[in-house]
Amino acid sequence: MIDSRDLNELSPAARKRAQTFFAACADDPYLLANGITVIATSTYRDFEAQDAIYARGRTAPGKVVTKAKAGDSWHNWRCAFDVLPLRCGKPVWSTTGTDGEVWRRLGEIGETCGLEWAGRWTTFRELAHFQYTGGLTLADFKAGKTMMA
Ligand SMILES: [Zn+2]
Repeated sequence: MIDSRDLNELSPAARKRAQTFFAACADDPYLLANGITVIATSTYRDFEAQDAIYARGRTAPGKVVTKAKAGDSWHNWRCAFDVLPLRCGKPVWSTTGTDGEVWRRLGEIGETCGLEWAGRWTTFRELAHFQYTGGLTLADFKAGKTMMA
């Protein structure tokens, strides 16, 4: 079972944008002024790991954390990564007030790096999730298509 937080596990096209994103965060005046650093908490996840997460809150203890079964998450196709901002080393879990501003800034930076930010999604909005799919759909990936770098 693979549940990685290593950017090297992303597809080359997604990895390139992710690296640009983390470099831009490290250089961003607003984030710097607020003592914010950003880490990756999840990148590539294999089908087995996805099914284990899907089971949470259904057939396993805990609360539901995903609507995606194996193959239905962009993490399964090396396109997506999740981030966590740290303020002076401590995780920023809250999404309101100043913390909300931090998440919004991360989203803006991601978008300038050519990433899609799930913080804009209207269903299953996820502030931590960024992806680059190269214009392909999940059905494309399931059919064996691959994206260009
Ligand atoms: Zn994600």
